Amino acid sequence: MNKNVDLSEFIATPEGVRVPNKFPSIEADYRVAIIGEAPGKNEVEERKPFVGASGFYLDTFLKEVGFEREAVYIGNVCQLRPPNNRIDKFDWAGPEIQTGIEQLRQDIPQVNPNITILLGKTALRAAKGVWHDNKGKERQYSLEDWRGSLFICDIPDSPFYGRKCMATYHPANLFREYSNTPLVRVDFKRANRNARFPELKETTLRLDVEPHLPTIIARFRAIKKHRIPISIDIEGGFLQGISCLSISPTAQEAFIVPFMDNDRKSFWTVDEETLLLYEMDLVFSDPEVPKILQNSQYDRFVLFLCFKILVRNVRDDTMLKHWELYCEMAKSLALQTSIYTDHAFYKDERLTSNLRTFWSYCCKDSAITNQISETLDKALPPASRTHYRFNTDLLDPFLYIELKGMLIDDVKRVQKVEKLKALAFVDPKKKIIQGTEQLELDRIVGYHLNVNSSKQMCKFLYEDLRLPVKLAERADGNSTPTADYETLLNYGNKYKDPRLLQCIKVRRIRKHISDLVGLAPNPDGRIQCSTNIVGTETGRTTQSKAPTGKGRSLQNILDDDRDIFVADPGHDFAQCDLAGADGWTVAAHCARLGDSVMLEDYLYGLKPAKIIALMHFHGAVVNSWTREQIKQASKGINAETDKTSNPPYIYYACKRIQHGRNYRMGPAKCVSQIYMDTEGEVDFPVSVAEKLQGNYDLRYRGVDLWHNEYVFKELRNKGYLVAASGNRRIFFGRKDDVHTMNEACSQEPQHNTTWVTNLALLKLWRDPENHRSDGSLIIWPCHQVHDALCMQWPSELREWAIQKVRYYFNNPIIIAGQQITIPFEGHIGPSWGEHHIEFGLL
Ligand code: URA
Repeated sequence: MNKNVDLSEFIATPEGVRVPNKFPSIEADYRVAIIGEAPGKNEVEERKPFVGASGFYLDTFLKEVGFEREAVYIGNVCQLRPPNNRIDKFDWAGPEIQTGIEQLRQDIPQVNPNITILLGKTALRAAKGVWHDNKGKERQYSLEDWRGSLFICDIPDSPFYGRKCMATYHPANLFREYSNTPLVRVDFKRANRNARFPELKETTLRLDVEPHLPTIIARFRAIKKHRIPISIDIEGGFLQGISCLSISPTAQEAFIVPFMDNDRKSFWTVDEETLLLYEMDLVFSDPEVPKILQNSQYDRFVLFLCFKILVRNVRDDTMLKHWELYCEMAKSLALQTSIYTDHAFYKDERLTSNLRTFWSYCCKDSAITNQISETLDKALPPASRTHYRFNTDLLDPFLYIELKGMLIDDVKRVQKVEKLKALAFVDPKKKIIQGTEQLELDRIVGYHLNVNSSKQMCKFLYEDLRLPVKLAERADGNSTPTADYETLLNYGNKYKDPRLLQCIKVRRIRKHISDLVGLAPNPDGRIQCSTNIVGTETGRTTQSKAPTGKGRSLQNILDDDRDIFVADPGHDFAQCDLAGADGWTVAAHCARLGDSVMLEDYLYGLKPAKIIALMHFHGAVVNSWTREQIKQASKGINAETDKTSNPPYIYYACKRIQHGRNYRMGPAKCVSQIYMDTEGEVDFPVSVAEKLQGNYDLRYRGVDLWHNEYVFKELRNKGYLVAASGNRRIFFGRKDDVHTMNEACSQEPQHNTTWVTNLALLKLWRDPENHRSDGSLIIWPCHQVHDALCMQWPSELREWAIQKVRYYFNNPIIIAGQQITIPFEGHIGPSWGEHHIEFGLL
């Protein structure tokens, strides 16, 4: 950095007006410097830093932690307003920024702050400098990584050299990403705790990275003997192998258990490793020794695959625990560390080539996981704890589902792929272009168009068709034109150009092919995937490929492809879906508010979507029919009749309208979502959707009441919603923001549905009569998605199993003061897709 710049040149220059930094004008027992990026329009007008919208936010945070604005120093890295407020328009080494830094170099010693709060990545750069990657490219430290970390600045020519600093998001970031506000709040609280002394009070961890086999074994034996709860963290995976793992018996210490050295060769002799694994297994598989992990399913899956060790008694999973408190936050250990502990960001140590540093990194992971778990114990309210325990109880059944996987009829799968390839297939490397639909596309476009080539599609959309260019932000912050599937679907829906529609058709076929290719089974004929029990904010599970590197989410398998998932030999394949699912929660709330029509409909076995479809065909007179008349008439409404209804897909649209309306989606948005979700296959008329929604509103007047008199009031007054399970979702968005309000409406219905499905799963898992004497399950779960559970059982036990499943799904819960048992519809067949027998809750 250039220290010899003449500041006087920049007081008022043709480039702009210098906005001076502001010194504290009153004394306080804390000493704080706050450093922003550069002044904006308001700041230039008033010649004071942080007086505009960002300043308003800053004031809020200062006030919340009890800092007086007059008692803190407020400055900027650059004192000139950059063009369009874009600091990247100024060169870092140029005079605009360097004079600002020089000014800070002169100011900071006078202020002598105990803590410097760095707002945003420009201020972070002034304190941490840059680093160079292995190609020598200059890189900035990531604000996402470093926010919330206390550190002593070690850059000699930085204005903050030798001083305690902490970065957080710039207030301007919160305009774009309001949901970061709670993190900034956490950071300001940390700054307040550290504003009265200059030093860094490091929380030291005792990390043993000198592996000595007898010591490790003695430790394992002590843990087992005294049933000491331990935190475990593994490094590596199934494909590359487990290179080491760490074990933390207390929140202040951890020891390393290596398996590989720097060259990825075995660290131990064969005999040593055999002994080590034996002793480790005794501890890991001991149900009397409680375990604490972050995202335990991954570590458990990998430990089972690599060592055949099953970790039992996962008492705590910090990912689930943190989710229970703040389900809208990211879930990584790094983020949790920055919220619940005073440890600075350390995750970059993972990239080290020094083995001991790497082991120490691994040890930190387990010790910090242990510490986070303790902190969260104090933070969880009792009802949230109940739901958290429920989720930890689900870890075992979901791990069972993951490890066991499902059998695939691979002949059928390959046949389906070949059939689709006859419609559209392109392999540029092998120069293959084939398929009737692909050739038709090439004919109407006038040349060969590969719909999976982003370059070709951008040219087609933006040069040939001259559509408005859609930009997507790249990882480096710059934007480039995109022709992704969503853009294509949007344009197809909007312009209905036959060439666009054909592109969509071909893309749909090719996506279908790649989905089926992703279902290729393991050599044993089965497919596995990973499940995240807290995949969404509402508590729905999500799935992804297994740690084996194979498989994929099985939650969006098309109905027509389900027949490739076959029952194990001699078994039935059953799927049980909650009937009405999310709608019951809406119905219960409406009933409490005085409109019991929906609840009575459900209790009579009627589906609101079918009733509004009937209203489409017969008019509002349906509302004067008895429920028995409605029941009889609605028998003719189903997915089959949808193919011939006018317009087609009436029932499907009614289902979407029902849920859309419950979650405050207008008919036009609903129709466009149907188009997107069915990849252009269902193009429903908005005018009909409007009428359907009118029918829904006519029959179910309580829905608006539920929104206004319950959901929005809770949101405004408390900022959170509590579901029947005890789960509490705190909303981070602005309480009057449409998106937040819509999310709030979907929260309880979606949460309750998943909860009830998982209640059945847990009952199945725990039923002593469902276990053979060797512990194996008779009825075993093989898949779960939102409101459906798939199971298998020996075919000869079908009658017994049906009665059992009825019992598993019989779970009365209290929603809005009403006792509700959500019924289910069960199907049995030789595969997931074939339904030969139907049954349900009696
Ligand atoms: N943003 C900044 O970074 N500094 C100011 O002074 C105002 C807005």
